[in-house]
Amino acid sequence: MGKGHLDKIAVVTGAAGGIGQAFAKRLAQDGAHVVIADLNPATETVKLVEAAGRRAIACKCDVASPDSVAALAKDVELTFGRCDILINNAGIYPLKPFDEMTFADWRHVMSINLDAAFLTVSAFIPGMKQRGWGRIVNMSSSTVSTVVTHYAHYIASKGGVVGFTRALASEFGAYGITVNAISPSLTRSPGTLSRAPRFGRNSMDEEFAALAARQAIPRPEIPEDLVGAMSFLTSDDAAFMTGQTLYVDGGMVRV
Ligand code: NAD
Repeated sequence: MGKGHLDKIAVVTGAAGGIGQAFAKRLAQDGAHVVIADLNPATETVKLVEAAGRRAIACKCDVASPDSVAALAKDVELTFGRCDILINNAGIYPLKPFDEMTFADWRHVMSINLDAAFLTVSAFIPGMKQRGWGRIVNMSSSTVSTVVTHYAHYIASKGGVVGFTRALASEFGAYGITVNAISPSLTRSPGTLSRAPRFGRNSMDEEFAALAARQAIPRPEIPEDLVGAMSFLTSDDAAFMTGQTLYVDGGMVRV
């Protein structure tokens, strides 16, 4: 059991697979009940949460849509009555050279990676304030702090996540609510494993190996590498830590 997680209600966006699924599983093992908000069916994640002896519901939700997030908030309220822990994990990372990037490409990435956090936080923070306890963890990326091309929209959105995290921390620290971010390196997930490798790389395995060679811990990151930091940040132990971005990236970025 985690410290303070028992019977808490956690909402994890983008938890049908990948990093979000690993987060949902760990939160359940820590003692929380989990709401999975994803565009995709989340049967597998529901089973993982239930196998840990906790309750789970899967809500089909487009986190970039105000109406869809409002429906999610209603489902959470009806089923569990509250959200104590919010993990803004859903995100996309389409590669596009800036020269070819349209405003529509830019807005699409911003809407899912940054606007969505505005929507979910707006939906769940009033209840956290009222109860005087809340944990918010937002997913940033080590691409914000390294040399990476063809990700202008993505890096801008993840830099925005860091700024939003700091702003919320200042605004809600007095209410027992902490807001932090986690910044991974390139991590093996359905999203990264299914994307085309970068120009000059023959496969994603080659790209994973190249990234790993830039880390102090020279092996590709996997979702399970991130769950310990998330568990800590959502625990009572982290009650005095807010506005921070934890680089859980094998030691690539040092701040
Ligand atoms: P993934 O593509 O494997 O999974 C993302 C999940 O989000 C999917 O289940 C997908 O259906 C869901 N999703 C996408 N758009 C959505 C929307 N509009 N509404 C609801 N759900 C939506 O991704 P991942 O690799 O597990 O990444 C998770 C998070 O971690 C993202 O925010 C990503 O930017 C961040 N991150 C990932 C890496 C990496 O290398 N994998 C590195 C740094 C940061």
